Amino acid sequence: MVEPTENALTKAGNVFMNPAEASSQHIVESRLHGIANVDPLTGLGNAQDLRDKVRALAAERASDPAPFTIGLANLDGFKPINDLFGPEAGDTILRQVANRLVACVPDGASVIRASGDEFAFILPLVFERKTAERMGMMLKEVLSAPFDLGERNVRLSASFGFAVYPFAGDEFENLLKSADTALYRSKRRGRGQITVYSQEIAQEMKRSTQLEQALRNAVIADEVDVHFQPIVNLKNDMVVGFEALARWCDPDLGYVSPAVFVPLAEERGFIDSLSEALLRKAAQTALSWPKELFLSFNLSSAQLTDPNTAANVLGIIHRAGLDPRRLELEITETAVMMDADTAKKIIAELREAGVRIALDDFGTGQSSLGRLREFAFDKVKVDRAFVSQISTDRACEHIVKAIVAMCDGLNLQVVAEGIENFSEALKLKALGCGMGQGYFYGKPADATTTRRYLAGKYGEAEPAAIAV
Ligand code: C2E
Ligand code: MG
Ligand code: MG
Repeated sequence: MVEPTENALTKAGNVFMNPAEASSQHIVESRLHGIANVDPLTGLGNAQDLRDKVRALAAERASDPAPFTIGLANLDGFKPINDLFGPEAGDTILRQVANRLVACVPDGASVIRASGDEFAFILPLVFERKTAERMGMMLKEVLSAPFDLGERNVRLSASFGFAVYPFAGDEFENLLKSADTALYRSKRRGRGQITVYSQEIAQEMKRSTQLEQALRNAVIADEVDVHFQPIVNLKNDMVVGFEALARWCDPDLGYVSPAVFVPLAEERGFIDSLSEALLRKAAQTALSWPKELFLSFNLSSAQLTDPNTAANVLGIIHRAGLDPRRLELEITETAVMMDADTAKKIIAELREAGVRIALDDFGTGQSSLGRLREFAFDKVKVDRAFVSQISTDRACEHIVKAIVAMCDGLNLQVVAEGIENFSEALKLKALGCGMGQGYFYGKPADATTTRRYLAGKYGEAEPAAIAV
């Protein structure tokens, strides 16, 4: 990669070397302005330059009402690379990024180093979303090639946010804020994402921020509840355990599905406190059940990438007084594959302590049968998608039959999820499926209802209420 030979700084820096020119007050001022507008590391314009250029372009376009676009690119995972290889390597990468961007933007466009690992673009000839997205894809591609650090190469991705003038803002501050909102959304969605600001995106961001605030408060106030759904032995329809399912009803937002708020808590970084509150409540409730019943608890994907998860889980159930052998943890294939090595360690530590591991929603992820051998699971939960069509679709029936046979051979237990009627239950029994769960056997119910149900079923007096 070619380093900048004569960048804006070297040009501007010469001002002090040339007394003839320096005699002109005007030139000195404009060159000083030049220095103030230049990023010394890359020679690109800086945040000040971005503001000046965008303001000038907006003033021009105010009379000639043609749109233009600004964009922001933030490098993904730059800090760990800087920490690992040192700041000089970091600087080299930033210079190479600058060169690549300058080389590939269209004529008339500007590239600016807005701050740290964030670059900005002014694209006078990009008028609408589709073109901005295409530009984002091209820039992303250009940055995906390895960066040369002499002895080694490193790879990075970048996230992008674009805002089109004047729809996303008719003044510099608003336009930049919109580009920043778009970038923030891209960052939240994972690496290498591209977002162009729109009203819908702004609404979506506002809603999820409201939801986040409400959920954070609910976690602190201990208002997120746990319900329990029975899991039965299909040979005799006896309850063998319960799956804990999170439930949250906000006074303003109403009922929010765990399929919405669990991923939100993961994304916003407080899944640990949410999960801890839920597991604590679930474990305390399970203490009031007959001892042979297990508690099945869902672990989220983010928890499977955190090396502290096993210790945290064991600590919570230890404090609650629940025997680890009564706990099962449900994990999904997608979660396992995010960081397979860490997931393997977590699974091993938990199983060592007596906790069983179930592979949830089996058949819906990027299922690889090899994974059943590679990872040590105890149980497989066949996804509702197969069960709900088992009576009408021959292919589903064959798939479930094959899963049951395979699990038999691998010494894994099988649970069919989402059994809604008698004929589905009958079919699964005929196929030799060991366990089942679904509305037909019981909907998720709160702790008190569950205890009453058990008291009725087991013919015992209702166990003393346990504070949860
Ligand atoms: P999942 O673990 O696959 O849970 C099963 C989902 O199927 C639950 O939805 C349950 O209410 C629903 N279900 C059970 N039987 C039937 C049936 O017969 N018919 C139909 N149509 N649905 C049935 P829910 O409670 O909305 O939970 C959705 C997902 O959210 C769960 O899927 C799980 O992945 C996640 N989740 C729920 N609670 C927690 C939690 O405490 N922690 C974590 N990490 N994830 C949770
Ligand atoms: Mg589950
Ligand atoms: Mg499931």
